[in-house]
Amino acid sequence: MRRKFIVGNWKMHGLREGGATLASDLAGRMLGAGPVAFDMLLCPPATLLHTVAQAVADAPVKVGGQDCHGKDSGAHTGDIGAPMLADAGCSHVIVGHSERRQGHGELSADVKAKAAAAHRAGLVAIVCVGETEAERDAGRAMDVIARMIDDSVPDGATAANTVVAYEPVWAIGTGRTPTPGDVAAMHSMIRRRLATLVDQPDAVRILYGGSVKPDNAASLLHIDDVDGALVGGASLKADEFWAIAETCR
Ligand code: PEP
Repeated sequence: MRRKFIVGNWKMHGLREGGATLASDLAGRMLGAGPVAFDMLLCPPATLLHTVAQAVADAPVKVGGQDCHGKDSGAHTGDIGAPMLADAGCSHVIVGHSERRQGHGELSADVKAKAAAAHRAGLVAIVCVGETEAERDAGRAMDVIARMIDDSVPDGATAANTVVAYEPVWAIGTGRTPTPGDVAAMHSMIRRRLATLVDQPDAVRILYGGSVKPDNAASLLHIDDVDGALVGGASLKADEFWAIAETCR
């Protein structure tokens, strides 16, 4: 009942020409593949949203932002409001990525406000949570993630407007991944936690993120309660991103 969801987070990479080429390549593969068992979302930098939205306009590929402000508009230099993302052609926005939490001091309360802003704009919020290596080593990973879920998922969250991404901080961009058993235990705990916050927790998609590559995608994506992947580095190469997506076919 939950379709797999393959999300590319391009982070701060790409100029117009390369972004258009990558997006067009993936759009062509989606159109050529016929029916597939997954949904695809590309989250380019804000400067490329329009370019990418145009490149995938005729294909079953969605476009998302990498962050939004908790307010809809105002005197917030350098920030982007969720209504602006919707206006640029986005259907989704990532909120609470660890690179925002750590690099920009965002707290779960900020993430909650951003997710609520996304919902007001009609966007699906992809709410990211993840423990640090020190927290995992201290045996606190489950508690930390439970708390992040409680504090980051806003009132009014539903399976239709919210996706959760579990991304252990120590696995992002490092080539390291948790064991399938650890991922299964964490995703199952997240779903139980969501049961206290949303009406249909079984319908919420929970993605895994952190060094997903073509050679480990199948083992991660076939775990119970893993409903897709949030992919960073490997989403910048069409062949790698497509190979990851194809493990869902
Ligand atoms: C990410 O940025 O969300 C991510 C998972 O990155 P990577 O795939 O490069 O680890």
